[in-house]
Amino acid sequence: MPIYEYECGACGTRVEALIRNERDVPKTCGKCKGKLKKALSGFSVSMAASSPKHEPSAACAACPSRGCPHSH
Ligand SMILES: [Zn+2]
Repeated sequence: MPIYEYECGACGTRVEALIRNERDVPKTCGKCKGKLKKALSGFSVSMAASSPKHEPSAACAACPSRGCPHSH
């Protein structure tokens, strides 16, 4: 089951939530009641980096397609 990470826009508190349906999505921060926004997890970042849309920059031409040390 997917676990999503949410981050409070006000205080930066991170919340991990197991999302089985829409009602499981956390809406407010438990500390300050600020609005939570979906945070990018390491998993989704690596997925984006390996997607077909990813085009290496000129500086990255020498990097292997996977495990590129540069952040894009
Ligand atoms: Zn907060």
